Amino acid sequence: MATATYKCPNCGGGLKFEPEIQKLKCEFCLSEFTNEEMGKATDAMESKADREKVHEDAHLKGYTCDSCGAEVVTEETTSATFCYYCHNPVILSDRLSGTFRPDKVIPFAYSREKAEETFLKWAKSKRYVPTEFYSGSQLEKISGVYIPYWSAEAEARVDYSGKGINRRVYRAGNTEYTEVKEFGIERHGKVDVQNIREVALKKIDKGLLDSISPYDDRKAVEFEPSYLSGFLAEKYDIEKESIQPTVRERAERYAESLVQESISGFGSVQLHRKELDVSIKDWDYTLLPAWILTYFYGGRTYIFAVNGQTGNSYGELPVDNRKLGLSSAAIGIGILALALLGGALIW
Ligand SMILES: [Zn+2]
Ligand SMILES: [Zn+2]
Repeated sequence: MATATYKCPNCGGGLKFEPEIQKLKCEFCLSEFTNEEMGKATDAMESKADREKVHEDAHLKGYTCDSCGAEVVTEETTSATFCYYCHNPVILSDRLSGTFRPDKVIPFAYSREKAEETFLKWAKSKRYVPTEFYSGSQLEKISGVYIPYWSAEAEARVDYSGKGINRRVYRAGNTEYTEVKEFGIERHGKVDVQNIREVALKKIDKGLLDSISPYDDRKAVEFEPSYLSGFLAEKYDIEKESIQPTVRERAERYAESLVQESISGFGSVQLHRKELDVSIKDWDYTLLPAWILTYFYGGRTYIFAVNGQTGNSYGELPVDNRKLGLSSAAIGIGILALALLGGALIW
């Protein structure tokens, strides 16, 4: 398995991408480098990795850490991680090459500190949350993850024609009049539908990511592996072909709603031609940033996620039965007291 570690040219320490300054920073000597500067260094690294790859099995899940030499095992979809032993950031470059090289990445802009604050504020505002849920060790489990997405651009050709009818009934003297006005409807042309996104990783819950969306695409940049340094990243395991029908349907629905909106002012509409033809023009393989915390409590897994670009958050909370028990006991006493009072009145 070919790997790359971004090492500080000054001291050899591991470099991590810092969301606050949008640069790679050395944790040891605090030097900062732009992604462009480090990109040149990686091109050299990648060609070295390509030469070494010859003897390797592409399905191997293990790699050897560049810094400490330890053998580290990863999941098959992982493309950026840390060495478990020395905690150096490692990029698994094989999983970011060929068809697995992302086109775009939206870099982290919301820092770990801010994600932790967001989580604490949210957890503390809820009742019945077990205190261990927002302890320090819990905060350490928040991970910055780049999640793979397919982002499609589609074109819908619209060809609608028909008539819109407005009817008005009024009286003059003893006579009732019906006034009918007809308007020709012609809607022809193309509708561009951009950024139709579908998650490209099986183990990620689709709904979860919808709940921390949207992401601002204007901040997407050309992919460079150095953006991943210091984060976890995954490569896709859902092929774009398999989500094509969903993407097409979403584009169709969007175009249809635009046309419908443009002809909604009439009392009734009769269409004699209604054609809508969608074609997908382009696919971008994109990585989107998210801070994710998963928590196992009372036999269930809970999740908290923060959009790594905007700070939008979403979470589910475990309920502490002991805390809940206390307050139901309090309610129980209230009811009993009322019952006794009621009894006292009768007797
Ligand atoms: Zn350094
Ligand atoms: Zn190591």
